[in-house]
Amino acid sequence: MADRMEPILPGSFLGILGGGQLGRMFTQAAQAMGYKVCVLDPGSDSPAGSIAEKFIQADYTDSVALKELASICASVSTEFENVPAQALDELESLGVFVAPRSSCVSLAQNRIAEKNFLATWKSETNIGPAPNFVIEHDADIEHTPADLFPGILKTARMGYDGKGQITVHAVADLPAAWAELGKVPCVLEKRLDLDFEVSALVVRGYDDAVVAYPVSQNIHRDGILHTSTVPAPSLKPAQEKKIVDAAKALIRKIDYVGVLCVEFFVLKNGDIVANEIAPRPHNSGHYTMDACVSSQFEQQVRAMARLPLGDTRQLAPVSMLNLLGDLWFEGSEDQVKEPAWNKVLAHPDAKLHLYGKSAPRIGRKMGHINCLGEALHEARQNCAAVASELG
Ligand code: ADP
Ligand code: MG
Repeated sequence: MADRMEPILPGSFLGILGGGQLGRMFTQAAQAMGYKVCVLDPGSDSPAGSIAEKFIQADYTDSVALKELASICASVSTEFENVPAQALDELESLGVFVAPRSSCVSLAQNRIAEKNFLATWKSETNIGPAPNFVIEHDADIEHTPADLFPGILKTARMGYDGKGQITVHAVADLPAAWAELGKVPCVLEKRLDLDFEVSALVVRGYDDAVVAYPVSQNIHRDGILHTSTVPAPSLKPAQEKKIVDAAKALIRKIDYVGVLCVEFFVLKNGDIVANEIAPRPHNSGHYTMDACVSSQFEQQVRAMARLPLGDTRQLAPVSMLNLLGDLWFEGSEDQVKEPAWNKVLAHPDAKLHLYGKSAPRIGRKMGHINCLGEALHEARQNCAAVASELG
């Protein structure tokens, strides 16, 4: 086996678990740098699998497939947050450089572990999670602190884009809400008075170098990210510094290699709360593809290949607009239409990225547009114009 500290150079294969849009953009970045990519995904047609040099269609826990991946790739990462940690463990035991490591991915997969970790981290950073209480058994309900209402009940596992969450107004509503979520382990979190939401994107190399991107300000619609704007219009410089320092401390503390996103809430009273961590490039970091020297996907390649990290410097203000499958329909999924690409592509500052998904569906992430501007207000105007043209 090669010396673990040696960089993996262009021409080699890098592996990725998961074949969705994040895997596809990772593959494109790796290929642009001369690497080949092997994608492992259970589905037959995946956005990343269709462009990778090698595609293994198999379950994440298929030992034969994992051995094949390990025989091709010296380094493997994951684009799918809920990949079984066991798959990463197996790859690690086969001598593959897995970045991020399995323990980091496990932490982010379970809200209970994640909130507990964020609570311990508060002593170092002064930023903690929202007040919360774990519900695992019927008996836990009566012990729920009254000051958590109104709250949001969230499943410990498999939640994304606001799925697996129910707002609970009073303790009397908790049993029904918990039953609706299947009585799986949950966290009840106090519903906070948010002013706005931001995310920090940090990267750590194998050599402990840590870099951070400018913080993005995020607007969600129906639990799904709608826009990310950078620089964050509402964030004060001191708040940005506090958030970036906290995210840098966190990535070191968990000995994480690769790109990590940390979501934060900024409350009406100015307090900052840590919401969750995503162990991979993140939707709110897609702006880096057109607005920064190195994209978040290039950084993931660099971290996995044990190369020095790229420059995170932002070259232009940007507002990213997510494109959901809804744009392909007139109201319901029965009435199909083609989005107004001609109008979008007429904007010289709007950079269109489509993910090559086989079919649009309501709520499905199909692509995004990075709207640039010389000044922040131009980027935002540009984004608003493109959004209204798409309807
Ligand atoms: P997901 O894993 O689905 O992204 P999040 O915990 O990030 O779940 O919640 C999704 C969104 O719901 C957040 O971006 C925020 O807008 C809102 N939200 C979540 N928790 C709270 C809270 N405690 N108070 C207020 N709003 C919240
Ligand atoms: Mg979230």
